[in-house]
Amino acid sequence: CGIVGYVGPRPSQSILLAGLARLEYRGYDSAGVAVIDGDGGLGMRKRAGKLKVLRDDLSEHPLADGTTGIGHTRWATHGGPTDGNAHPHLADDDKLAVIHNGIIENFSELKDELLADGYTFRSETDTEVAAVLLGREYQRSGDLVTAFRSVVSRLEGAFTLLAMHEDQPGLVVGARRNSPLVIGLGEGENFLGSDVAAFVEHTRNALAIGQDQIVAITPAGVEVTDFDGNPVEVEPFEVTWDA
Ligand code: GLU
Repeated sequence: CGIVGYVGPRPSQSILLAGLARLEYRGYDSAGVAVIDGDGGLGMRKRAGKLKVLRDDLSEHPLADGTTGIGHTRWATHGGPTDGNAHPHLADDDKLAVIHNGIIENFSELKDELLADGYTFRSETDTEVAAVLLGREYQRSGDLVTAFRSVVSRLEGAFTLLAMHEDQPGLVVGARRNSPLVIGLGEGENFLGSDVAAFVEHTRNALAIGQDQIVAITPAGVEVTDFDGNPVEVEPFEVTWDA
């Protein structure tokens, strides 16, 4: 339902939580964050309930912070509103995290393919199928952008999808089909959001990603392509409303 991503020099947890708070108006039933910490490990925390439940959990049991992170508020469509069904979802090796807005219509045939391949699942969501599939593709190519490109081409339905891998800190990839995704351009840092509210307190310089496009953000810049990897032009705009 609500999506935020960050890469830059700053610890990301508070940026992600503030972004999720600004997206609360959309409604949600669960919330979660994942960060790649300074030692290159992926940490994740997710809880059913209000953002406060997640915040309290994080202050009682802190998660090592890091400068690459993604955050999600979920409005359940597949699988009830439980801690386990909340996003992020991890690939089977726990090194790669995915968040998703929308519905992957062909998730059950993809799930059957992965089950036949010996993979197991920890949730009832359509989203976890994309995470596990991405993990398998990553094992094949060793490159997040390449793996991500092959996965999004296979997904039908509506999705804004974000992913990051602990072996590639400083990189968050995103894609969108029938669901919105915008880039926020900062100084030495960049953002992704399901809408500009996710990052408007940090930057008003934004880029609108078109239908069936993929974006890779690093602290140094952003690269947008179509699902085949061809570079595309994106339209800059300035957020004018008051944050
Ligand atoms: N279909 C996904 C789920 O149920 C994402 C829902 C959303 O857009 O928040 O987990």
